[in-house]
Amino acid sequence: MRDGNGRKIDYIRISVTDRCNLRCRYCMPEEGIDLMRHEDILTYQEILKIAETGARLGIRRVKVTGGEPLVRKGVSQLIRELNAIEGMEDVTLTTNGLLLGDMAPELAEAGLSSVNVSLDTLDPERFSQITRRDRFADVMKGIESAVRSGLKVKINCAVMEHLSREDVLAFAEYSVKSGIPVRFIEMMPIGQGRKYHAMDNEELLKILSEEYGDLRESTEPRGNGPAVYYTYASGAGCIGLISAVHHKFCGSCNRVRLTSDGFLKLCLDSPAGVDLRTPLRSGVSDEELRGLMEQWIRVKPESHHFLSPEGREGELPLSDGTTEKCLNMNQIGG
Ligand code: SAM
Ligand code: SF4
Repeated sequence: MRDGNGRKIDYIRISVTDRCNLRCRYCMPEEGIDLMRHEDILTYQEILKIAETGARLGIRRVKVTGGEPLVRKGVSQLIRELNAIEGMEDVTLTTNGLLLGDMAPELAEAGLSSVNVSLDTLDPERFSQITRRDRFADVMKGIESAVRSGLKVKINCAVMEHLSREDVLAFAEYSVKSGIPVRFIEMMPIGQGRKYHAMDNEELLKILSEEYGDLRESTEPRGNGPAVYYTYASGAGCIGLISAVHHKFCGSCNRVRLTSDGFLKLCLDSPAGVDLRTPLRSGVSDEELRGLMEQWIRVKPESHHFLSPEGREGELPLSDGTTEKCLNMNQIGG
């Protein structure tokens, strides 16, 4: 379907849990986390009902996210069932990779087409600093297992302000050797991420160009979204830049998000959206659910205001008139 600004909305990111086995500094605090009550988290049946309704409205691709989606039991079965929805063309996953070593074969078998592994550094010590856990080796095993299982793999590196030249070049080299695309994502001022400064991806491009000379912008489509890709003159290696903050791409935004407690969130930077869990648990009909989703997707905000402090909101008004505290990324799904 089209939203009120004429944008085609065909992609949904579905968060299946707010729990995580890492504590990335820009995403979750170490302690004092307000975890959702288990009974507030959507069941797989409820998620599937929303995805099916989305498919009737033209949603064609779904990304399963979290928290860490692989910590929720039965996620492979969910992926299988999402895949079976009429009209759904692509089911993908974003993960920190810790459990991928064991789970990649069953995920591939369930019909997952590709996996994005979030990895912010190739230095094990720095990994422990960022994630507050000493699990670098598990992520690398996870990536290998995903590749062996035939999944397409991309690495997503969220750029904290002090990403060093060494880190950038290590990823560039890794991409050449492994053939895995590495995408650098500008830190967004959301939740814990507000503590960090978003380094402009242009700076990264400069470092890469100094080292690799001619970077060529690639026009080949490689994912669901707004990354701009570059290949090296040598032909091997691929770097993607997702510059949500400094070079916003709201005009071509194609997505909505579903939080694990059932809030249909229309834009990362806006409280706009609707609670779908309450109507679902009050016996809403298929047609009413469709009408509700259609009505809200139509009013998706035109753009974010990450760079203007007065544009930011600290409270999340819900459709029933109450408000919630501003969310961290583990609750939104990235
Ligand atoms: N745990 C899974 C993972 O790490 O891929 C899925 C959920 S995580 C919230 C999804 C993505 O959001 C990760 O790639 C993470 O780096 C990114 N992320 C979290 N907080 C962010 C922020 N403030 N700005 C930009 N990206 C962020
Ligand atoms: Fe967990 Fe992903 Fe957030 Fe890191 S970014 S704390 S892995 S949800």
